[in-house]
Amino acid sequence: MRLLPAPAGSGIVFRRTDLDNFEIPATGRNVAKVSYATSLMRQGVLISTTEHLLSALIGMGVDNVIVELDNLELPILDGSALPYVQAFLSAGIRTQRRRRETVRVLRPVEVREGDKFIGVYPGTGYSIRYAIDFPSPIGHQSASVDLAAETYGTEIAPARTFGYKGDEKRLRDMGLIRGASAENAIILGAKGPENGPLRFPDEYVRHKVLDLIGDLALAGRRIEGHVVAQRAGHAMHTALVSRLLKDRSAWELAHVPMAEPVKEKEAQSALTGDSLSTAALMSA
Ligand SMILES: [Zn+2]
Repeated sequence: MRLLPAPAGSGIVFRRTDLDNFEIPATGRNVAKVSYATSLMRQGVLISTTEHLLSALIGMGVDNVIVELDNLELPILDGSALPYVQAFLSAGIRTQRRRRETVRVLRPVEVREGDKFIGVYPGTGYSIRYAIDFPSPIGHQSASVDLAAETYGTEIAPARTFGYKGDEKRLRDMGLIRGASAENAIILGAKGPENGPLRFPDEYVRHKVLDLIGDLALAGRRIEGHVVAQRAGHAMHTALVSRLLKDRSAWELAHVPMAEPVKEKEAQSALTGDSLSTAALMSA
């Protein structure tokens, strides 16, 4: 996998180098089957497990980039977005001259399914409130994040994905997780995580925020608004994107003025340099 700088206004575009550079833009139109991960499909070409990379890009303020892949699956790395963030920072992020395009939310859009809920509301910037309720040992956790605060890299990116030990065999039999291990996920036993200390006491809900940011990247542009999610998951996240994009009265494509110097990294930006291919990105 390799990331290349892209012109302002191009958004995030995946490119399969093993299939004649076939391109799949990261937009809701291309969302494929969603279960334990989010996948994109266009004209039968698949790219799977997009959420952690997309989250890192949005979280670090990267609007325009080409993601080259030589197979269908993005690297899972350590189960978090931290290796991606570290790779972006070592490659550098460049502010572009054009104003950032956002999907500015004008009216509430909500999706409810049983006790699962997700909604997006008008608001300045991009903020998220997430609550989860999982079986023991996780229980109830909630978290709030404001992406303008530039805390994504330290507060959200390191949070790893997780799975219950009892589910592992069943999920693998269904082909839903490929080789979840202590290296790329928190493995939960009856008494708690079986592989070492957590990175945060509420690492689970932080990871749900990480996933949500990645899935909402499929709006095609960074969201400008406030998101609330309860007990949601990839299917709910992407359902919200579809519902939002379909309702043309609920949003507008806005052009956000160049950010103040203090928020320079958040301005419309792209990865700089000829290419990005670091050990962290290649190791998976
Ligand atoms: Zn995840």
